[in-house]
Amino acid sequence: QNRQWTQTSSQVFHPDLISYNNEKLGLMAELRHAISQQQLKLHIQPQIALSSRQVVAGEVLVRWHHPRRGLLGPAEFLELAEQMGVIYPLTQWVLEKAVMTLAELAQQEIHCKIAVNISSKDLLQDELVDSLELLLKKYKVKPSQLVLELKESALVAEPDKAMRMLNHLAQLGVELALDDFGTGFSSLAYLRELPISQVKVDCSFIFDLHRSDTHTAITGAIIDMAKNMNFMVVAEGIEQPEVEQKLIAMGCARGQGFLYAKPFALDAFPEWVKQWSYSKATY
Ligand code: C2E
Ligand code: MG
Ligand code: MG
Ligand code: MG
Repeated sequence: QNRQWTQTSSQVFHPDLISYNNEKLGLMAELRHAISQQQLKLHIQPQIALSSRQVVAGEVLVRWHHPRRGLLGPAEFLELAEQMGVIYPLTQWVLEKAVMTLAELAQQEIHCKIAVNISSKDLLQDELVDSLELLLKKYKVKPSQLVLELKESALVAEPDKAMRMLNHLAQLGVELALDDFGTGFSSLAYLRELPISQVKVDCSFIFDLHRSDTHTAITGAIIDMAKNMNFMVVAEGIEQPEVEQKLIAMGCARGQGFLYAKPFALDAFPEWVKQWSYSKATY
């Protein structure tokens, strides 16, 4: 009987689904105010040149300090933000913080880049290029200091429009990276058409690189391919020293992962970089 009453001609409402939707609706309402109420916080994770051990960049990662739910990771609210159409204002906010940090780094004569994750929806916003140009001018930051990370999937919905946007961004002088590489379906021929300069190998291949022949084969192929196309390769998710050693032997240029640092508060980045270069190999 309890199954029967929720059933209509076209849909079956399962109680779990109802509560999930309510929860989702609640989060949606709150997400609209999260930025203005300063509940969104930025973390950053350093990117290391594997041979010299220099910090070459930091990737900015968003978090939501929810008043009741505590700390939420991007997996818990970004999809919702995309569905609600609030991802673009979120991205704008992240970009401004990133560019402000770049200005601060320049002031302290720290030369490293900042990477920002861009959603597929952002690539369809015509004003992205102009607003980015204004932002870089406002803080007197060189476009080449900023890296925009996008996933292969960002190009799927409207490939022509997304490609035009990528070309405009590249013309502006920002660097473009393909994130989570290896999980999508990009052909090598297609990759060559993209105005990108970096490929980030997905962490799912890196975590167990020291004991997986399959993941070693895939990562090796990506590194070789990237070299042939003059892309910088960044391995994500380096947790073990053995993985780092293997990546160096395989010719991977850069890495990011808990081995060097877990993501931490963006404000602490300039100081972290100074400390790191001071005492390079003390992890
Ligand atoms: P991503 O861009 O691939 O970022 C790397 C993710 O891997 C981060 O998760 C980072 O904390 C995690 N990670 C890095 N090294 C390790 C490691 O050694 N071990 C493990 N277990 N994890 C590691 P996070 O911060 O949860 O972000 C998840 C995804 O959310 C990001 O994946 C990115 O796609 C998205 N994201 C984060 N911030 C933003 C943002 O501001 N805007 C947009 N559009 N997407 C964002
Ligand atoms: Mg990323
Ligand atoms: Mg990634
Ligand atoms: Mg990822």
